[in-house]
Amino acid sequence: MSAAQFIDEPARSIPVHGDYEVVVLGGGPAGIAAAASAAAQGRKTILIERYGFLGGAGTAAGVTNFCGLFANVHGDVRRVVHGVADDLLARIDRLGGLNAPHMVLGKTRALAYDTTAYKSAADDLLIGRSVDLLFHALAAGAVAEAGALTALIVETKSGRRAIRGRVFIDCSGDGDLAAWAGAPFELGDEAGNLLYPTMMFRVNGVDPELAGEAWNTIPALMREAEKRGTRFARQGVVVRPQRNPVEWRVNATQVASRNGRALDGTDADELSYGEIEGRRQAQAFVDFLRADVPGFAQAYIVDTPPQLGIRETRRIVGLYQLRGEDVLRCASFPDTIGVNGWPLEKHVAGNVEWAWPPIPQSRGFNHLPYRMLLPQRLRNLLVAGRCASMTHEGQSGARVSGGCFVMGEAAGAAAHLALARDMAVAEVDVAALQRLLEASGAYLGRDVN
Ligand SMILES: Cc1cc2nc3c(=O)[nH]c(=O)nc-3n(C[C@H](O)[C@H](O)[C@H](O)COP(=O)(O)OP(=O)(O)OC[C@H]3O[C@@H](n4cnc5c(N)ncnc54)[C@H](O)[C@@H]3O)c2cc1C
Repeated sequence: MSAAQFIDEPARSIPVHGDYEVVVLGGGPAGIAAAASAAAQGRKTILIERYGFLGGAGTAAGVTNFCGLFANVHGDVRRVVHGVADDLLARIDRLGGLNAPHMVLGKTRALAYDTTAYKSAADDLLIGRSVDLLFHALAAGAVAEAGALTALIVETKSGRRAIRGRVFIDCSGDGDLAAWAGAPFELGDEAGNLLYPTMMFRVNGVDPELAGEAWNTIPALMREAEKRGTRFARQGVVVRPQRNPVEWRVNATQVASRNGRALDGTDADELSYGEIEGRRQAQAFVDFLRADVPGFAQAYIVDTPPQLGIRETRRIVGLYQLRGEDVLRCASFPDTIGVNGWPLEKHVAGNVEWAWPPIPQSRGFNHLPYRMLLPQRLRNLLVAGRCASMTHEGQSGARVSGGCFVMGEAAGAAAHLALARDMAVAEVDVAALQRLLEASGAYLGRDVN
C-alpha cells in the first residue's frame, strides 16, 4: 500500500467509561462464563459486546446447538461440563428453550436450543451476578504499558470510550484484544488454511410427520440431486428439528473466499463477500429441501442470522497449545481447568472430517490446561474460547460451546485470584484455582482415566 493510501488521525482525549477490576471482551459462551465467574467472586466486572445481545456465534451466527457438554466415557454418554453452564442451561430450560439431548453420529450427545431463550437467559444470568453489560460497543484498540493492559478502547453510539481495568479477558473469538496488545498468534494451519465458515439458517413450515428422521435420508437425497446436476457446497450437512418440530436448523453451507480457500473472518472485504454468498447458498439449499425432501415442501427460511458463522480465526500462541493428538489421546494435564469431550471436527473444502478418541476404550475427553489461557508478553490478560492457545487441529475440537464455557469460567476465577494476590495471571496458584472451580461446581475430570 502506498503512503497516499493512509491518512493521519488526529490525537484526541477519550472519556473513561468506567474503572473495573475485570474487563471481558465478547459475549459468547467464553465471555458469558468469564464474566459470571469473576462477578460471582465479587469482582467489579464489565462485559463488552458489539451486538445488542449475548450468546456469541451461538446466537449471532445462529448455531442453535450446544456441543461439547457431553463425553462418551467408556461407553457411558454423560455431561462433563458443569459450573456456570448448569446455571445458564437451567435458565434456558425455564424459558422453554432447550431440546432433549440428541445423539451425534452414534457417539455422543448435543443439546439444541432456541436463540431467543438463550439471549434472555444470558441477560438474567449476568445481571443476576451484577455484571455491567455494555452492548453496541465495538472494541477498537488497547492501551498497554510495560507488559500490562490498562484500557480497552471501544466505539459506541455515544462516541469513542476507554474502559480501564486491572485484568482483561479476551473472549472475542478473534483474539482482537490479544493481537492489538502484541501477543503472538497464529492464523490457520502451516499453510494458512482455516476451518471453512457456514451461514446457518432455520426453516419453518416443516411437516414433522412426513419429515420423520430426515437427517438420515438427506445425504442419499443429495447424491440423487447431484446426479441430476445440483451442486452442493459441502457434504456432511446437519438438518435437525428444533424444540418445535415444525422448525429445523440447517447447517449445510460452506463459504470460501473468491480464491477458493476458507474465508478469513479477520478480513473485512472477505467477510462482506461471505455474508452475501452465505445467504445465496442458504436460498439454494432450501430449494433442494422443498423439491426433494419429504415434509419440506412448504418449508421457508424463517431466519438467516445476523452474521456468517466463523469457526476459526486468530489463535494465540500461549504457554501451551492444545493439540489434535491431545484430543485424540484424551490427554491429562496437572493444571486441568475442565474437560473437552468433543472430537476433531474439521471443516475442510467440500466436507466435514471427524476424528474421535477410541470409544469406548478411552474416557472420551481431554483435560484443558490453564496454560492455554495464558498469552505471552502480557501479565494481566487471559484469552478464553475459540481464540485460546490451540493448534489448528486442537481448536477444531475444543472450540465448541462446552470447551468455551470451561475456559471462560476458569479465566474469570483466575482473574479473581490474580487480583486477590496482586500477581500476574501466569503466577496464579493452580491448586487454588482448581479448588475454586470445583467449589463453584465445575468438573475437572480428575476422577476417570
Ligand atoms: C457455523 C457454525 C456452527 C457451529 N456449530 C456448533 C454447534 O453445533 N455446537 C457448538 O457447541 N458449537 C458450534 N460452533 C462453534 C461455537 O459456536 C463457537 O466456537 C463458540 O461460540 C465460540 O465461543 P467464543 O465465546 O470463543 O466466541 P464467539 O461465540 O465467537 O463470541 C465472541 C463474541 O465477541 C464479540 N466480539 C468479537 N469481536 C468484538 C469486538 N472487537 N468488539 C466487541 N465485541 C466483539 C462477538 O460479537 C461475539 O459475541 C459452530 C460455529 C459455527 C461458526
